[in-house]
Amino acid sequence: MLLICRYLWPMPWTLLGLLAAGCVRALGGCWQCREGAIEAHGGRVAALCGRLPASMRFDAITIGHVILGKNAATLAAVRAHEQVHLRQYERWGPFFVPAYLAASAWLWLRGRRPYRDNPFEKQACACVLMAVQPAICEANTKVE
Ligand SMILES: [Zn+2]
Repeated sequence: MLLICRYLWPMPWTLLGLLAAGCVRALGGCWQCREGAIEAHGGRVAALCGRLPASMRFDAITIGHVILGKNAATLAAVRAHEQVHLRQYERWGPFFVPAYLAASAWLWLRGRRPYRDNPFEKQACACVLMAVQPAICEANTKVE
């Protein structure tokens, strides 16, 4: 039952992610299943990401239980970070994206960095650091 809820709660975003993954496939990319996520990458995705405005470019992005990446190597490099976002989707469900965007907007209005200072990003970075270097993680996860 708990497993079903983990997948149903963020389902609206997963459906959007599947739509995006279908576009990746149509652009010549491929899919793979890893750690509870469908990962889509390759094809012309990297070229299209490169055409986005600098502030919108990404190496990978998580949309529900779907992770989109430029290529397999990029996905391997950022998988741990994106898996934290996947867990955030499981926790927040349909409210994750509004909460993420609200946090970014609040930070921007206060003159801070909407991406780097976003608490969801900080948590993802901290969790990856914790897995690699626990001492650094403790320094970066202090409550402000
Ligand atoms: Zn992130």
